Amino acid sequence: MNAMTQPLTHLVNLSEPLNFQQYSAQGGYAGARKALCEHSPEEVLEIVKASGLKGRGGAGFPTGVKWSFVPQFDAGDSRARENKYLVCNADEMEPGTFKDRLLLEGVPHQLIEAMIIAAYTIGANKAYIFLRGEYHLAAKRLQSAINEAYQAGWLGENIQQQGYQLDLYLHTSAGRYICGEETALINALEGKRANPRAKPPFPQVAGLFGKPTIVNNVETLSNLPHILKHGINWFQEISPDSDAGSKIYGACGRVKTPGLWELPMGVTIGQVLNEHAGGLCDGLKLKGLLPGGASTDFLLPEHLDTPMDYDSIAKVGSRLGTAGLIVLDDKNCPVAMVLNLLQFFAQESCGWCTPCRDGTPWAVEILTRIEQGKGTLNDIDELLKLCDFMWIGKTHCALAPGAVEPLRSALKYFNDDFVEHIEKHCCPYHGGH
Ligand code: NAD
Repeated sequence: MNAMTQPLTHLVNLSEPLNFQQYSAQGGYAGARKALCEHSPEEVLEIVKASGLKGRGGAGFPTGVKWSFVPQFDAGDSRARENKYLVCNADEMEPGTFKDRLLLEGVPHQLIEAMIIAAYTIGANKAYIFLRGEYHLAAKRLQSAINEAYQAGWLGENIQQQGYQLDLYLHTSAGRYICGEETALINALEGKRANPRAKPPFPQVAGLFGKPTIVNNVETLSNLPHILKHGINWFQEISPDSDAGSKIYGACGRVKTPGLWELPMGVTIGQVLNEHAGGLCDGLKLKGLLPGGASTDFLLPEHLDTPMDYDSIAKVGSRLGTAGLIVLDDKNCPVAMVLNLLQFFAQESCGWCTPCRDGTPWAVEILTRIEQGKGTLNDIDELLKLCDFMWIGKTHCALAPGAVEPLRSALKYFNDDFVEHIEKHCCPYHGGH
């Protein structure tokens, strides 16, 4: 592992993460020290903006730009004096995605250091880690690292004698996918039912307890100590691509070596699949893949040369999302795969809006019929209509449009498979999954 090319993961130790002393001895907390002792919050904001860091939770929104919406940075805004909050979104529940877990379990002090930098920059004195409920080991390790950071004077009052105060709380989720949506997360943190809120207002202006709040993903935040330590140029030079930095890519499905790899942003899909995941298991061929978790559109073998960055994946009709490949082989039924994903989305719908509450189970009903060989050609049209009914602008949040992405692309790319199920009155892959 190379500290300069794999900054996020080079200190990961899954069997026993570095304690405070060990992490500090490896250069840990130097980024936070630099931020607090050498820079004003405004200067750190400019560094993060100039670095080009984009959100790694799935949407790729520029991090520095998001922070700049916090009223602190508008001198004429009276809200600048209000309480502000930083929230780390560690509610990793996207199917096929397990990159944040690696950082949470393997190097918890890196996240704490990152949160000190982010909270200092936006002027927050309280921060929360909103952790997926099932991540028990991460909870144990994070709490122990938080306790150590308090003891070492990196959390609490007058941090490192710089006159800055930060309290950091670990909050474990009660366990719904929708809690990862930032406004649903905020409602959950306030003790309310985790329904998403209408946006705008965005949390940057009115978030937790109605106050300005930044919600950032674990991987996004984990870049901060390294950007502060090594600088903007270093961060941009990691990647030859238009998007800066490294990215934790993943692969699951019937590949030879499923796993996670920190690589320069913009390696191709083929590199991740064939060089790192070892290609498909013997006897199988690639039929398609979801490039970034379940809520992205399928891509095909012809897309293997596409760089895995935000714009390049969008150009071929999908999204980078979480950059965790879910691989579909030629012996697995695409209808069954999409049914499985839609069952997940239907179960996880909060029920607030009709397109999602009624649309996702309706899609499950139709897909079940087709997969069991009981569908009609009219069902394909019904599914296409449902994709339109559940699309962006017609729903309360991104859950239903996310569910539409694998469904509509499966209907486009694997239409023959849907028709074959209907015409043969059975699943042609029977026995293959
Ligand atoms: P989004 O594009 O609406 O927002 C992304 C971020 O940018 C948010 O913090 C939002 O506040 C900010 N933002 C966007 N537009 C803005 C504007 N005009 N003004 C100010 N701020 C703005 O996306 P989202 O709904 O937050 O997230 C969807 C993504 O989450 C999907 O891409 C999906 O891949 C991913 N996802 C990840 C997981 C996981 O486990 N990591 C789970 C579910 C979904």
